[in-house]
Amino acid sequence: MNIAIDGPGGSGKSVLAKNIAKKLGLVYVDTGALYRAVGLYSINHNIARTDREAIVGTLDSIKIELLYVDGEQHVLLCGQDVGDAIRTPEASMYASAVSALPEVRAFLDKTQRDMVARGGVVMDGRDIGTVIMPDADVKIFLFASPEHRARRRYEELLAKGQNVSYEDVLSDITERDRADRERDASPAVPADDAVMLDNSGFEPKDTFAAAIRIINEKTGGHYSDVL
Ligand code: C5P
Repeated sequence: MNIAIDGPGGSGKSVLAKNIAKKLGLVYVDTGALYRAVGLYSINHNIARTDREAIVGTLDSIKIELLYVDGEQHVLLCGQDVGDAIRTPEASMYASAVSALPEVRAFLDKTQRDMVARGGVVMDGRDIGTVIMPDADVKIFLFASPEHRARRRYEELLAKGQNVSYEDVLSDITERDRADRERDASPAVPADDAVMLDNSGFEPKDTFAAAIRIINEKTGGHYSDVL
């Protein structure tokens, strides 16, 4: 059983995917963290996010590994756990910039496919249902209004002690989604066979319940005792 969850930033993909992984005994794979780690490398080496050539040039020096400790994903960038350094607003904008480069997508392809090959994953990202797991058993495209998404992301960042304004978070998220949707390389669009789930105004438990209903519909009620 493999589940793909795609959707724009702040739609609650990671919270949903974690909850599903826990309840259904699957491994949660956060693919955005991989793009964030590639972006972090450029930040650490003072490379502008518009400098495509320099970013592509870093790939020969980058080694990315995924490690699971008590079900939690850790990303190792050249052997070092990146921790929360990939969660800053700057790292988000760099992740979006590097993710538009086909060379970066090709570089991260194997790490993702190795995880799919293990089986039993719930993977979140932008192109999981379209490119990485076209044969996923269940595909959900999770979205919400830009204001709902920005509010969630803003509260997350505040909780992490980051000094941000709601207006900046809203403008970053809107800009990042536009870039992700309109890029040529694996644009962030729903797969034809994805189920669209609008969770504007939902609590995480409501999103989880809606997703379990979708999973049950797709798997003939296999998980009907989960709710
Ligand atoms: O999901 P998250 O916000 O952590 O993703 C960070 C960025 O990485 C996204 O804005 C997107 O540009 C990129 N991304 C991608 N494909 C994925 C996952 C993330 O292009 N599968």
